[in-house]
Amino acid sequence: MSSPKYQSSKGTHDILPDDHLYFSFIKKVVRHRCREAGFRRISTPMFENVDVFTHSLGEATDIVEKEMFVFESKSGKRMALRPEGTAGAVRAYLQHGMHQLPQPVELYYFEPFFRYSRPQKGRYRQFHQLGFEVIGEQDPAVDAQIIYLAHKINQDLGIADRLKLQINTIGGPEDRKKFHEDLVNFYTGKERSLCADCQKRLHKNPLRLLDCKEEDCQILASMAPKFDHVMSEETKEHYQLVKEFLDELKVPYEENPQLVRGLDYYTHTVFEFWSQQDGAQNATGGGGRYDGLVELMGGQPTPAMGYAAGVERTIEYMKEAGIRPPNKDRIQIFVAQLGHIAKKRSLSLLNELREHGLNTVGSAGKGSIKSQMRMADRLQAHYSLILGQIEVQEGTIILRDMDKGSQETVPIDGIVDMVVDKLGGKKLKNRTLWEE
Ligand code: AMP
Repeated sequence: MSSPKYQSSKGTHDILPDDHLYFSFIKKVVRHRCREAGFRRISTPMFENVDVFTHSLGEATDIVEKEMFVFESKSGKRMALRPEGTAGAVRAYLQHGMHQLPQPVELYYFEPFFRYSRPQKGRYRQFHQLGFEVIGEQDPAVDAQIIYLAHKINQDLGIADRLKLQINTIGGPEDRKKFHEDLVNFYTGKERSLCADCQKRLHKNPLRLLDCKEEDCQILASMAPKFDHVMSEETKEHYQLVKEFLDELKVPYEENPQLVRGLDYYTHTVFEFWSQQDGAQNATGGGGRYDGLVELMGGQPTPAMGYAAGVERTIEYMKEAGIRPPNKDRIQIFVAQLGHIAKKRSLSLLNELREHGLNTVGSAGKGSIKSQMRMADRLQAHYSLILGQIEVQEGTIILRDMDKGSQETVPIDGIVDMVVDKLGGKKLKNRTLWEE
């Protein structure tokens, strides 16, 4: 067959039903673990005034320079599709007076994001992130708890073994200023060995030279001055405590002095979950402190810390690990019918079964019983209920066990309770229907 005329746009992808099993499962794990730790969910708009991002992420960052989808509204305002979640969360924190609530405020999200990057495996232009933020507390215990939560979620999803946690500190603004100077001094005169991007970054954002993936840049980065020479006592102590707390929580990590994360708003602790196999290439997520961001966005000085992970990449890791999420879509009962009266009766039976929380599909067409059974097979239903004219008249129904291939005729009254029992299901009647 020739390919259809219309295709999804480059870098975007459809989430098909099988992948939604992963999405739902991940979302459920995130919600469970976040709720347990006192986080509440937030969703910010998919687009915002471009300044929300440029001002917070930094003008000289890859995302702002190259990867934002920017457009003009009809009234001429410059807007951007959100490339990440922290800037919007902090904007919302200030806009809705959350700084007046008891601090810290703990928020989590699970949303689509947009980056105009070159599509490749694990890199899309529309992708999803799960993330969380703790705003209003600077204790290193928060850093450790956020990292623990991220690690715990990776464990729940069965991928923690495939990842290695990298941590580092990039210090406060004073440390950074001194370190910038040291780096610029070191790289000056060596510009020709740097890639084109790093040559541009040198004066605007020299820290980024340390995590460039180009080989020559990495060699130079390994010889560059080390941050611990300029680190203040306060920075050292904060970092020391984060490590101590991680040890206490039994979260394994590697210290990586080259890890800087790409955005200007980060301070002190930064961390990423890298692939055990491919290193930084396929990080699932990362985060860090951003103690200056709330103030930068117009609020009072407020310490904060956050984390975000890519959902599509997380799914890739789960698939590699052979993890199959539970299939909540699985059809339990198939209702087959033959003849007008039987069809009528089957309609109310279908609803009754569904009201009892059973995933039930009925054949709507006029196919033979044989073809309806083929459909039940395709759906992998556990049981079929078969209703013909005679059964309706006699007040019976045929119950067929699809796995065993055996069947029996039973009274139609009480059939719902019977299949509920057989499937070990709970009756939903006295439960809140949407309870999970
Ligand atoms: P970042 O804060 O940029 O490190 O992003 C956090 C995580 O989001 C990354 O580790 C990826 O798992 C995921 N991510 C970032 N950009 C993309 C993208 N373009 N496509 C898919 N996932 C992405």
